[in-house]
Amino acid sequence: MGKHINIAIDGPGGAGKSTISKAVAKKLGIIYVDTGALYRTVGYYAREHGLSVNDVKVSELITPMLDNISIEIRYIDGSQHVILNGEDLGDKIRQPDISMYASAVSSVPSVRAFLLETQKELARKNSVIMDGRDIGTVILPDADVKIFLTASNEARALRRFNELIAKGVEVKYEDVLSEMNQRDHADSTRAAAPLKAADDAILFDNSGYEFEGSVAHVLEIIEERTGVKRIEE
Ligand code: C5P
Repeated sequence: MGKHINIAIDGPGGAGKSTISKAVAKKLGIIYVDTGALYRTVGYYAREHGLSVNDVKVSELITPMLDNISIEIRYIDGSQHVILNGEDLGDKIRQPDISMYASAVSSVPSVRAFLLETQKELARKNSVIMDGRDIGTVILPDADVKIFLTASNEARALRRFNELIAKGVEVKYEDVLSEMNQRDHADSTRAAAPLKAADDAILFDNSGYEFEGSVAHVLEIIEERTGVKRIEE
């Protein structure tokens, strides 16, 4: 078994965190952990149980619900599946309105505390590249490498738009852009674990990069900092 490494990737939505991290994980032979999927799962449960995304009492309403939520992460053929109370949710957590639910519940400290140990444990037991909003600051403060990935608002909205269209979801670019701006604002201004770069994170604005170039750049940073080499060209 190779050296145990933890890589933290943070940044706003649509910056390419998940696609880049997934490709890097494959090259390094380590696990990719998508922490947004955990918040999406709590958001999904909240929606199914009648919580309204704009409810001012999100915190009061979601906290007791946590007693009825059991979330497990499983890897099937190398890809992450989130199991909510025994049900594999698959792509149900990728619906656009679930993003807003995820963002709403993620500002509640009890929700963050509830998901903390699952994330830490995955990183203790495995070499991981983990993406989210607070990985370098809260979840893995001792990560071997921290990267804060950003891109311009327009580049990020266009990527998210193309992703949704490719999945057959009917959306308008303007709606994706405005929802993204709204979510960025909420994620960066919340009191609990706001989206921000760790002091020791490497900033990487990939607006002008093609996907392959971004993957290559992230791999170079990790190889240089950890001494770990890719297992696959
Ligand atoms: O990354 P993704 O778009 O799937 O995340 C959905 C939402 O979950 C984010 O907008 C953010 O509010 C929340 N989140 C978070 N902390 C993380 C990952 C996601 O607060 N580590």
